[in-house]
Amino acid sequence: MVVEILAVGTELLLGNIANTNAQYLSRRCAALGFSVYRHTVVGDNEGRMTESIRQALDRSDVVILTGGLGPTEDDMTKEVCAKVMGFSLEEDTRTRKRISGYFKSVRRKNVTENNWKQAVVPVGAQVLDNDNGTAPGLILEKNGKTAILLPGPPNELIPLFSQKAEPYLRTLQPDTLYSKMVKVCGIGESRAETMILDLIDSQTNPTIATYAKTGEVHLRITARAADEEEGKSLVKPVVKELRKRFGIHVYSTKEAEELEDVVIKLMRKRGLTAATAESMTGGLVAGRLVNVAGASEYFKEGFVTYSNKAKRKALGVKKETLKAHGAVSEETAREMAEGGALAAGTDACVAVTGFAGPEDSQEEPRGLTYISCYLKGRVSVREFHFTGNRRKIREQAVVQALDLLRRCILEQDKHE
Ligand code: ATP
Ligand code: MG
Repeated sequence: MVVEILAVGTELLLGNIANTNAQYLSRRCAALGFSVYRHTVVGDNEGRMTESIRQALDRSDVVILTGGLGPTEDDMTKEVCAKVMGFSLEEDTRTRKRISGYFKSVRRKNVTENNWKQAVVPVGAQVLDNDNGTAPGLILEKNGKTAILLPGPPNELIPLFSQKAEPYLRTLQPDTLYSKMVKVCGIGESRAETMILDLIDSQTNPTIATYAKTGEVHLRITARAADEEEGKSLVKPVVKELRKRFGIHVYSTKEAEELEDVVIKLMRKRGLTAATAESMTGGLVAGRLVNVAGASEYFKEGFVTYSNKAKRKALGVKKETLKAHGAVSEETAREMAEGGALAAGTDACVAVTGFAGPEDSQEEPRGLTYISCYLKGRVSVREFHFTGNRRKIREQAVVQALDLLRRCILEQDKHE
């Protein structure tokens, strides 16, 4: 079933307020199993509003309108919508009583005549009582099409939608959506997509959607089903297949689990401790690890060694190494990781050294980065050529550093 959202208000068009109602409604409708195909914003103008409502009702099953239900002259969503759909308007006694009760409850005395405009409803519409304001929500049905009208202020719209409009929408769309996330790291989006092109091409139910994050790709598998149980059984074999294809690149299938959560979890299970030795990322890797509650048991020390002197002093990187190979080199990265673990007395240390470059330079070797991980006597070093601006380059390095630590821990299992 196709839903579209039509937000009304010149304020939105002028950029004075953000259309957060559309975001909220879209998210909720998608979770209810509706296909949301369009968002439209139209100003408080009768002609353009008429046209937008007409078009929306033509092409969608349900149109959700927000805003323009207030008492003033420019609030005309209800009037225009009723006219387009062929409803006449009449005062609703129950709503008038509720509004006067609302004014009493908020101790408002100076009620102007135009407020009673909000008690006027299309004849035959379902009236959704608004407990947080005066204008009621409305559901209008005609010729298999539905318009749902909701007030603009989010503190009125959200409870009205979740408590009164959602139950109605569930009767139109009894299916539920069940989805699961597969989080992949260390592969670019286009390569990831190529690896599962056959699955994407043949998908119907469940579907697979890919989202590119910095250094990561998230794949959402969504099934439409009668209930959660059926949804789970549809999604499970697809998750299994994705795990098979992406192998060690899959770091989690949990929605809320981040890379650092997984790293700390792996360390906890094995009783490992780690340190970080960072040049280019200036402590960002350590920052990610301490995001995890209880990380202090496993993450012991973070070295930020930006200068060559600091690399020598804190990590014991050899003067000759720096001289012969430079600070951004495989050799330096290796010595940073070894030296960091030794200095902190930890089982592991992950080290980052690279050129993030000035903001606007595209020159080589901007983006060249070495990431190294020491774990119980073994050292791995990887070379990267990141692209993007300074911030992007560092963000990618952080993800790769966490991922290298994760992989080294998993590799280590083979040697024990
Ligand atoms: P009121 O009775 O307050 O006039 P209304 O239903 O007529 O309510 P509008 O006049 O369009 O709604 O908007 C009132 C306020 O609600 C706006 O000033 C804004 O703060 C908020 N609002 C309106 N539309 C949106 C939207 N699409 N997203 C977020 N907030 C909104
Ligand atoms: Mg208004």
